[in-house]
Amino acid sequence: PIYKVGLTGGIGSGKSTAAQIFAELGVPVIDTDTIARELVEPGQPALAEIITTFGEEILNAQGMLDRARLRRLVFANETLKARLEAILHPRILQEMHHRATQLTTPYCILIIPLLIETAQEGSIDRILVIDVPEAIQRHRVKARDQLSDEEIDAILRTQCPRAVRLAAADDIIVNDTDLATLHRQIERCHQKYLSLAS
Ligand code: ATP
Repeated sequence: PIYKVGLTGGIGSGKSTAAQIFAELGVPVIDTDTIARELVEPGQPALAEIITTFGEEILNAQGMLDRARLRRLVFANETLKARLEAILHPRILQEMHHRATQLTTPYCILIIPLLIETAQEGSIDRILVIDVPEAIQRHRVKARDQLSDEEIDAILRTQCPRAVRLAAADDIIVNDTDLATLHRQIERCHQKYLSLAS
């Protein structure tokens, strides 16, 4: 079976940027966010379950899932959040592992933002954490998403503490400098994973 490296980190830590560099090195990247979007496309069983749980009001005029509305609903309500996760998480996991089995490279990268929060360490071979100091994280998220400090605070509160994530890591990339530095760190990890996978 293919060697699986789970790539995780807090919001705006640089997961997508790091994954892009792995992809340029020829490593296949499976993104759980992409899978989650595909799972709720019209006609998908997960969307039907979401409609059963949240009502038709969760669809927009085009019959597509209103993701912003869904996000607001579950943000304010732990029970609804748990129900949504029960619908999506098992399917995401299954699809992610299914896609990995199709690959023929020595290893692959799985981007799993909530890797630690959802306790799926057992199903992957190695955990790579992209880490940034909170001040840089806030600065980059603000620049990218135009969020207020309060909105960023609220998101950070839902994510696991930095120390917990770091404690679970097999490898840590500190993404506090520039892209060239990130690139060098990823090349080192790439060599390591090639040898671990063989
Ligand atoms: P999210 O959790 O929201 O999906 P992410 O972890 O995928 O975010 P990215 O989108 O890769 O994070 O990075 C967040 C922002 O920081 C982006 O605008 C990205 O261009 C920038 N960034 C990432 N790494 C660096 C770096 N080394 N130097 C400068 N900017 C960076």
